[in-house]
Amino acid sequence: MSIPRELMCPDCENLLDIEIHPKPNTFIGLCPNNKCKKAWFITKDNNNSTLKFQLAKKYEESPRGKDLQHQLGLDSLIILFQNSDEPAHVYYDPNLSKFIIYYRSDNDLIHELGHLIIDSKPEHYKVEKPWEEEKRDHIDNIINAIIDIIVDYNLVMTYKMGKFYDDTALESKVADKIIKIVNENKKMGEKFQLADYCYIYLKLNFYLKDEDKLKVSKRMKTSLKKIRQRSLYKLKMSSEKFKDIEDKLSKIKNIKNFNDMKEICEYFHSILAEINLWNKNVILNKLKKQFL
Ligand SMILES: [Zn+2]
Ligand SMILES: [Zn+2]
Repeated sequence: MSIPRELMCPDCENLLDIEIHPKPNTFIGLCPNNKCKKAWFITKDNNNSTLKFQLAKKYEESPRGKDLQHQLGLDSLIILFQNSDEPAHVYYDPNLSKFIIYYRSDNDLIHELGHLIIDSKPEHYKVEKPWEEEKRDHIDNIINAIIDIIVDYNLVMTYKMGKFYDDTALESKVADKIIKIVNENKKMGEKFQLADYCYIYLKLNFYLKDEDKLKVSKRMKTSLKKIRQRSLYKLKMSSEKFKDIEDKLSKIKNIKNFNDMKEICEYFHSILAEINLWNKNVILNKLKKQFL
């Protein structure tokens, strides 16, 4: 099929740069006008060859994103970057057939690319706004909390990316989280607390630099204690149970290959089985859906 020529941006009437799209009868039209910079999905109707213009989100050139992508060995992926006020996340756009990273800070860029190091299967990034996903349940929250630590752990340990992380930002992120847990203890559901427990425990013990640890460890330990106390009567989980869960969480240091989804799955399985709130099939199905 021939590429349509001389198409104008419906908004500013500049001549569009046209790119071929893997989908049949579909093109991308990029407006070169700096004040507009819109991207359009252009689809051709089979019957009457009318062109339909649909606005795609605009993505910027991000030299920093590209540079980090290269440093992290992710050159084979096609990634677009979007500086945005939304919480950072990575999403696979099936229309563009590209990954899109939404980020607010440099830390976000590194972290979201870190997700793609571990897992770059497009089908695992189908949800555009993960926090709006209604089906998120207790297990999802725990998996999401732990995977974030795995991502950062891998970045620091394997890729020596620690020096890129802004310590104060990291620290305040952790502190904010703790304050939230301590202050909103009554309002928060148990399902968030176990996820937070895993997150804080791993962060405190395997991730924070010593100098950061000094500043926040007291508050972090307090928040862990609070969750334990609460779970004692809410979830009937004893202190010993938490010791066992911590023991399984600590196995993060034994993970040999962070790209090996089987190994990652086994790690998650041992933690979720130890928490022991769901039957075996629920856990296995969840892990399969998320990782395999
Ligand atoms: Zn335009
Ligand atoms: Zn993340």
